[in-house]
Amino acid sequence: MFTFAPFFLDFYMTNFEIQGLNPEILKAVKDLGFETPMPVQARVIPAMLESDADIIALAQTGTGKTAAFGLPLINMADASRSEVQVLVLCPTRELCLQITSDLNDFCKYLPDLRVLPVYGGSSIEKQIGALKKGVHFVVATPGRMLDLIRRKAVNLGTVRNVVLDEADEMLNMGFIEDLNDILKMVPKERRTLLFSATMPDRVAGIAENYMRSPLEIVVGARNSSSENVKHLCYTVSSKDKYNALKRVVDYNPSIYGIVFCRTKRETGEIAEKLIRDGYNAEALHGDLSQAQRDYVMQKFRIGNIKLLVATDVAARGLDVSNLTHIINYNLPDDIETYNHRSGRTGRAGKTGVSVAIAGLKDKSKLKQIEKNIAKSFEHRDVPKGRDICEKQLFSLIERMERVDVDNKEIDSYLPVIFKKLEWLDKEDIVRRFVSLEFNRFLNYYKDAEDLEAARMESADGERKKRGRRAEKAEREGRSEKFNDEQKSVRKAEKGYTRLHLNAGKKDGLYPNILIELINQTECGNQIKVGKIDLTKRDTYFEIRSDQAKMLLKDLKNVFYKGRKVTVSAV
Ligand code: AMP
Repeated sequence: MFTFAPFFLDFYMTNFEIQGLNPEILKAVKDLGFETPMPVQARVIPAMLESDADIIALAQTGTGKTAAFGLPLINMADASRSEVQVLVLCPTRELCLQITSDLNDFCKYLPDLRVLPVYGGSSIEKQIGALKKGVHFVVATPGRMLDLIRRKAVNLGTVRNVVLDEADEMLNMGFIEDLNDILKMVPKERRTLLFSATMPDRVAGIAENYMRSPLEIVVGARNSSSENVKHLCYTVSSKDKYNALKRVVDYNPSIYGIVFCRTKRETGEIAEKLIRDGYNAEALHGDLSQAQRDYVMQKFRIGNIKLLVATDVAARGLDVSNLTHIINYNLPDDIETYNHRSGRTGRAGKTGVSVAIAGLKDKSKLKQIEKNIAKSFEHRDVPKGRDICEKQLFSLIERMERVDVDNKEIDSYLPVIFKKLEWLDKEDIVRRFVSLEFNRFLNYYKDAEDLEAARMESADGERKKRGRRAEKAEREGRSEKFNDEQKSVRKAEKGYTRLHLNAGKKDGLYPNILIELINQTECGNQIKVGKIDLTKRDTYFEIRSDQAKMLLKDLKNVFYKGRKVTVSAV
């Protein structure tokens, strides 16, 4: 088994500018809106700029790793030499295109640098033609790269840097032989950079065979899922699975996620049922043509589809960084796959939820997963009809409160509308407006029975109870049962400190925005946020008492919508 070289050289940067990236690159980074380096960038960029050492970075997709290797490689590239200097190998066509597009963004002000994506399923002749013209970066899937090597269409003898991106996925997909054959063609004196979400033995094997005393950079815990992901489990009998899925979705009105199924057939069936039941869902599986898959993925990427029902294989190349939920309609056979699935949420500093809809027979698998991700599932009862209606109702009201009102456009219609509604008083109008959207849920859940959770014995009972308590607390914290005055004087939970921030709903500050503000601070990723109470003008929120001092310090200079806000202990 491969063991890592200790990481003595600890480079770290807090600002893109202090590490000597070219002004053209800094300008492109600025255009992209990147203000501060993400953790993997803070470690990898200076390490690459200051030494020639090989690097292993354990980081999930969505952590900013493309810029971590892309920016320094572009910085070092010599556009005047028309030869392949960098080879990036990645598992899928989609990732290949994504990396190419990111690299092109980074070298936007270096027009002489050329980046070429090569992947299966598109014209090899065109790729050969482009290679002949001369490119500096080749981003390739292993199969197509090998094909090009065999046709002698590419010279890798000039490559000085090789990036193996999503190395674990490449090995999962059976590319080991291809990788071995490709790496033989690249000069030994090259630098190798390996990025992987996990470090199974097979990836360690690659590192041992092809890398020299690599620096190891770990972002987040090794082989464990992101800190920002909460893992929930609903245990139901198989007949209730689909209804449980619907309830989980209904209980999360702003859901944007992937529902993972085990087979193509199941994927199609579940998507079809969801669409029939009025959900904004679509299926993604291997029986679709490439063009159909691209179409569905694009719709999902831009948010036109809120629920993608997919098999693991079909979802491989999909890279979306702001998913709120991953739903395991079936737990995967391979434990590591759960890690990959759940790693698709909680990215780029955001929080996410990974839901397992499990059966009784899954008990030991759940335990294995918990061991693998080094976290426990929170066991919950499937949301009850009443709870769902309440959530939906408040979500509707919140959306109404937050909606942008274009007074100029709307004003001309108002006199007629007011006249037409003259016969209704304010309460009536609210009632009717709410019913318009809300009746679907009311009708569906009016007489719906609670889904009986399949019983887990012994130790899980306590966890379930804890889960229920947590759920209740969450509900109470977010529900509008307390008026603004009561919220301002509420006591903190035991072990938590209550903080006050001088902006509230009127300023457009909502829990997700508060969490973003916290995440942006230096200590943000470690902070455990408890209850959040929003009033019109203020926000009260609770964080673990041992973290209060640190967060207050980091929040000293926080700006929201261009104005400095103040945070203090209550
Ligand atoms: P990646 O892991 O490379 O796929 O990046 C995930 C997402 O984070 C992409 O949408 C990037 O554009 C974005 N990103 C990368 N670096 C930064 C940064 N320093 N600040 C803000 N966003 C970033």
